Amino acid sequence: MSICRFSPSSDVFVTIEDNGVLECCACRLHERGTYSTPLRDEMVHHLKEHLGAGHKVPPEAFVELAQPSKW
Ligand SMILES: [Zn+2]
Repeated sequence: MSICRFSPSSDVFVTIEDNGVLECCACRLHERGTYSTPLRDEMVHHLKEHLGAGHKVPPEAFVELAQPSKW
């Protein structure tokens, strides 16, 4: 499922795989294109790096990452 998609209010596309791995697809911060981590805390940190770089990250993404029980 996707946590957030590219949109006018989002410069990131974050998904969670069935195995629980989080991916930041077509990531602007990584040359390899996709940043992946199994840890929610690390993805939160990663998204804050996007914010620090001036990229848009929707607040809902942080809300989703703070609610693992939904998965
Ligand atoms: Zn990223």
